[in-house]
Amino acid sequence: MQIEIINTGSELLLGYVLNTHQQWLCRRLSDGGRVVARQVAVADEGPAIQQAVREALGRADLVITTGGLGPTSDDITRDLIAELLGKKLHEDAQVVAHVENFFAQRKRPMPASCRVQAMVPEGAIVLPNAHGTAPGLAMEIPDGQFRHAGRSTWLVMLPGPPRELRPMFTDQVRPLIAREFPIEGGFVCRTLKTTGIGESFVEERIAGPLKPLTDAGLELGYCARTGEVDVRIIARGDGAEPAAAEAERIIRKHVGDLIYGLDDDELESVLVRELTARKKMLALAEACTGGFIANRITNVSGASAVLLAGLVTYSNAAKEKFLGVNPATLAGHGAVSEATAREMAEGAMANTGADYALAVTGIAGPTGGTEAKPVGTVFIALAGGGPTKVINPTNRYDRETFKFVTSQQALELLRRRVLGIGV
Ligand code: ATP
Ligand code: MG
Repeated sequence: MQIEIINTGSELLLGYVLNTHQQWLCRRLSDGGRVVARQVAVADEGPAIQQAVREALGRADLVITTGGLGPTSDDITRDLIAELLGKKLHEDAQVVAHVENFFAQRKRPMPASCRVQAMVPEGAIVLPNAHGTAPGLAMEIPDGQFRHAGRSTWLVMLPGPPRELRPMFTDQVRPLIAREFPIEGGFVCRTLKTTGIGESFVEERIAGPLKPLTDAGLELGYCARTGEVDVRIIARGDGAEPAAAEAERIIRKHVGDLIYGLDDDELESVLVRELTARKKMLALAEACTGGFIANRITNVSGASAVLLAGLVTYSNAAKEKFLGVNPATLAGHGAVSEATAREMAEGAMANTGADYALAVTGIAGPTGGTEAKPVGTVFIALAGGGPTKVINPTNRYDRETFKFVTSQQALELLRRRVLGIGV
């Protein structure tokens, strides 16, 4: 099947907004066994949008547009497409009620312009928007109107804001696609997420053992991202499920302890889940990550069940006052040292009563490095659940990447101890 994506929005072409829909939608679709054939971004201008949609409908079985369904004057996708298809727009009472209710629940007045979002082209299926006002739309366009292919084309229009588009696609568009475009034979795509090892080392360990399966058609992909490596298995055809299961078994046998999750799992969500299941509480004492670990943990719904406190102890004075770090340790070993990291973690645990405490102290750079402790030096300490463990990686990156990589190492250290993998 041919799938095309049209991202509308002048902000995409001006470089003000990164076109994440392109990547996100392509990824969701390819995980489901359907590869996008063509993608284009166009400005919020009538001729550009209509031309792109007309051309795509002349080729594709499924066309997905994003953006331009809102209430402002540059939100013109709906009107232009209705015009192109020769469909009249009518006001949908249910959508009007939804928009009114959306504003009432938030105790905000409803701008008159918002009513336009309830205008629906005749024959369109309304995709309710659980996280915003503008509904998505899906329309089946009969064969012969734009192309002659012996089958109709589906046109799906999604709103621009990612937090509206994503759940709408997952909950409503994915089932529609599965129904209208079933995949012949089987298809399984699974991503095993690893951290703590480079992609070449992952490949070195698993490529050999997987060779019989890859020779037989299993697709294996590696995606190295900052602080982690994803291993993707794709199996097709009748034996897809057993082949994928066998591949996963082999991969787990060789790098199992480094796999922290599957598909959309993130290290922080896995940790919140595992700590919650064990009824264990965590405390954080962060210097060089500036609260980034606490931020990641609190991005997960349900974090309050596991996070007792996060202290950002940037100065020596704060390390002494809030964590009980000994001034002699700071004077003798320095703030960035194994001894300080250890006392920070143990102090955080003692002061909060948590079951585990993570502490980080390091030199993010670009200034502040010395010969003995160059930029990138980090000490990560974990207290609780066993003897206090301190690791000492060197993370030479820009400050933001430094924070992410350091937080990843800290969370992985905790994951391994919580799961009893051994650290
Ligand atoms: P709204 O009701 O918010 O106006 P809309 O459906 O009209 O929604 P747009 O106005 O095109 O959508 O975009 C709304 C916001 O969504 C943009 O400001 C932008 O931040 C984000 N957005 C739009 N398109 C993309 C994209 N391709 N990738 C990432 N973000 C996007
Ligand atoms: Mg808009």
